Amino acid sequence: MDEPACRACRGRIGHLVLDLGEQPACDYFPRCDDPGPDPVYPLQMWLCSLCGLAQLVADPTVPEEPRGAEPAALVAQAAEAVDRVAAAGLLPDGHRVVEYGSPHGGSWLGLLAQRGLRPVHGGEPAEVVLDCFGLMHAADQSAALADRTARVAPGGVLLLQYHSLGTIIRCGQWNALRHGHYAYYSTAALATMLAATGFSPRMAWRFELYGGTVLLAARREADAAHGPDGADGPDGPMRSLLAEDIRVGVRDPAVLGGLQRDAEARAKGLRDWLVAERSSGRTVLGYGAASRAVALLRWAGVDRSLMPAVVDASPAKQGLRMPGTDIPVVGPAQLAARKPDAVLLFVTDLLQEVRAAYPEVEADGGRWVDADALRS
Ligand SMILES: [Zn+2]
Repeated sequence: MDEPACRACRGRIGHLVLDLGEQPACDYFPRCDDPGPDPVYPLQMWLCSLCGLAQLVADPTVPEEPRGAEPAALVAQAAEAVDRVAAAGLLPDGHRVVEYGSPHGGSWLGLLAQRGLRPVHGGEPAEVVLDCFGLMHAADQSAALADRTARVAPGGVLLLQYHSLGTIIRCGQWNALRHGHYAYYSTAALATMLAATGFSPRMAWRFELYGGTVLLAARREADAAHGPDGADGPDGPMRSLLAEDIRVGVRDPAVLGGLQRDAEARAKGLRDWLVAERSSGRTVLGYGAASRAVALLRWAGVDRSLMPAVVDASPAKQGLRMPGTDIPVVGPAQLAARKPDAVLLFVTDLLQEVRAAYPEVEADGGRWVDADALRS
């Protein structure tokens, strides 16, 4: 293929590191009575050799995601993050705030209003510009970042939260790659992107969400010398994140290529496991009609003979089917009705939440199984 132009630095030198073949749009859930076949598009990750940004190659799909239920894990993490950023002195009462949100929810504005921050609109600058998983949804990464940094008032701070590429590599999260998510950030690549707009990361926090989520606080280079800056010291989290990026090899195409082997192994493991469960007469339902389940089910060649339904709490997804498969999405009442022997959980972060919400699964002798680890 022709080398694409980098979404951040416009460079054309890089490597195709992950190719999941032709996949349906993971955010388009067809109705159950729509027989398909669903349109499919190439799903590939490319690593820019110049700036180090890992990115989606092409995205011919239009975002059309039924709004999912906001996971409690995301809500709890937002509260924790606000506490930690406030403790660092970055959220003073009375400051203006602009939020660039994610289509998947997780707004901080309610929490920030409780602390006396004032949301502004219509292009007005703000002392706190916040982006929680929003930036990855922009096809033009350099333009989107420039838009955010331009909103930062003099002396203000840009807060960027992202699922880190180091986590994706370390945990083999190959199915983080999806249409509509254009960028997969290492701290190092984001620092390079920020430098192009005259900003530099000053502080960082880590969270367990999605296996490893990072929140960076960045300021203008020109402001770095002023104020209660609170920049990390040489042993602070910023330095350790950058060191970890180097250790993991976030810029090494061969390291990222390991995701391809992870994908193949995971899909085969899932298929073998489901076939064995069926042979033993056990029923397995899925839980969580999430985007990351789509590529996994497709790659593993799972149909309703192996998994009769995927349960999802979002009423918007019920009556639909998993993209690219014949598996229907059903409501949580089916957990009690069908008494599955196992429920395969596609979103690991939800484990505590679903065990508490649906005690009938274990009460009826079923078990929750992590779809990644294939363990209870
Ligand atoms: Zn680049």
